[in-house]
Amino acid sequence: MKLLSTGNPKVLKGLKEGFNTYILHLAPASLSGHNTCPKATEGCKAACLNTAGRGGMFKKGENTNTIQKARIRKTIQFFTARESFMQDLVKDIELAIKQSIKKNLIPVFRLNGTSDISFEKYEVVRNGVLYRNIFDAFADYQFYDYTKILGRKVTDISNYSLTFSAADGNDNDVAKAINQGYNIATVFGIKKTLPMPEEYMGLPVFNGDESDLRFLDPKGVVVGLYAKGKAKKDESGFVKYPTIMLKAA
Ligand code: SF4
Repeated sequence: MKLLSTGNPKVLKGLKEGFNTYILHLAPASLSGHNTCPKATEGCKAACLNTAGRGGMFKKGENTNTIQKARIRKTIQFFTARESFMQDLVKDIELAIKQSIKKNLIPVFRLNGTSDISFEKYEVVRNGVLYRNIFDAFADYQFYDYTKILGRKVTDISNYSLTFSAADGNDNDVAKAINQGYNIATVFGIKKTLPMPEEYMGLPVFNGDESDLRFLDPKGVVVGLYAKGKAKKDESGFVKYPTIMLKAA
């Protein structure tokens, strides 16, 4: 089964910088019957990008579409046929590398486009060699993700960059993540026409909407994201309203 895709509008911004992001979209939270987001909150589930763009276009009277069905199929494969899933992933990454070389682009990979799976835990075979995880199997290539899971064992994986995601009710984890050196992705309820706040939680804010290339971000920042889609109506606390902007409004 083909697992990776490109074409997300924000990812396309990376092309200008020479990077081609390939994303794995699984079904988030427990949509497939298997939980892919152990730290999901009510707010993030309601605002999840799973239904952004074509993933959220349903024919009248229907509540699913081919994109959602494919995400569910892939997720079920991950949980019930792990070896074949990992083999498909290896093949897809190899294909992505070939495609990118032809286009003179650097392929980069985001495996948790709409999930939060600790991929560092899963062994994989590439060219007959057993690797402890997919990142080691493709050690020359950059991977990156957002996560809400603290304590993932990734510090010795130099080609995997993680940004911690703030949400409703995970303030304690955010504080610990800052202490552990993570950048914090935060969705702000401000209009795209307004600038990001200069600071949030005592940290400088970096505009994370200019590209999706999180591994290039400066360290020690809040990665600010403008609320999009359903997040614009969030009242759960998932979307944050920086005091500075409220004063200005
Ligand atoms: S953890 Fe991320 S992928 Fe999972 S439901 Fe929340 S926003 Fe969606």
